[in-house]
Amino acid sequence: MIKVENLEKHYGNNHVLKGINLTINRGEVVALIGSSGSGKSTLLRCLNRLETISTGKITIDDICLNESTKNISMIRQEVGMVFQQFNLFPHMTVIDNVMIGPIQVLKRKKEEVEKEALELLKKVGLADKRDMYPAKLSGGQQQRVAIARSLAMKPKIMLFDEPTSALDPELVGEVLNVMKQLAFEGMTMVVVTHEMGFAQDVADRVVYLNDGKIVEDGDPKMVLRNPKSDQLKSFLRLVK
Ligand code: ATP
Ligand code: MG
Repeated sequence: MIKVENLEKHYGNNHVLKGINLTINRGEVVALIGSSGSGKSTLLRCLNRLETISTGKITIDDICLNESTKNISMIRQEVGMVFQQFNLFPHMTVIDNVMIGPIQVLKRKKEEVEKEALELLKKVGLADKRDMYPAKLSGGQQQRVAIARSLAMKPKIMLFDEPTSALDPELVGEVLNVMKQLAFEGMTMVVVTHEMGFAQDVADRVVYLNDGKIVEDGDPKMVLRNPKSDQLKSFLRLVK
């Protein structure tokens, strides 16, 4: 489903990703961990073409992320992304935020999209907030709207970049629960997270990135309980 081969990424002289090879299968949930600056966000952003790559190859569902703009718009529809900052449109109600993608990008009819949007809001537990504006919601609620908004495009893959890092601790669980449900339903997910409990309980695989290279990749219990490298051992001491 996702195949990354010999991926290199530079920002000027800064060599950020140094030969990444990664295959993610359909329905797999991968937790991507690593210290600040190791390249986690950059890797995620390369997967939906928010970043161009220096060398190497990324294929998603047999679509190659090359320079073809047709491929880029296909990828953006197939790959949803949720960020640390929820980035909702402040001047739009909750349900309008969820409907905007399908209406504007997919040119679908409002009546048809509205039903689906309401279903998605039910799924994330926010149907009663449909006509509120984002500023009136808690951070956890806003992030759940952001997830619903991504899902409205019917993506095949969801990327999450530290979706709970901006939240007060008591709001983290409600967002993780929505993600857990999505994983349970078979969504293919790549999740950058510092939530080791989530990585251990929900992910099928943990990938540890250090200084632009994948240092460990495997079953969460193995990687998190029996780290092989000194780098991961000291990283886990810091985050646990
Ligand atoms: P964090 O845990 O702090 O979010 P990260 O693992 O996500 O870190 P990245 O954001 O991928 O790390 O950054 C990796 C390196 O790339 C850093 O050295 C960063 O300064 C650099 N970098 C990231 N984005 C850009 C950019 N748009 N322009 C220039 N350099 C960048
Ligand atoms: Mg990051």
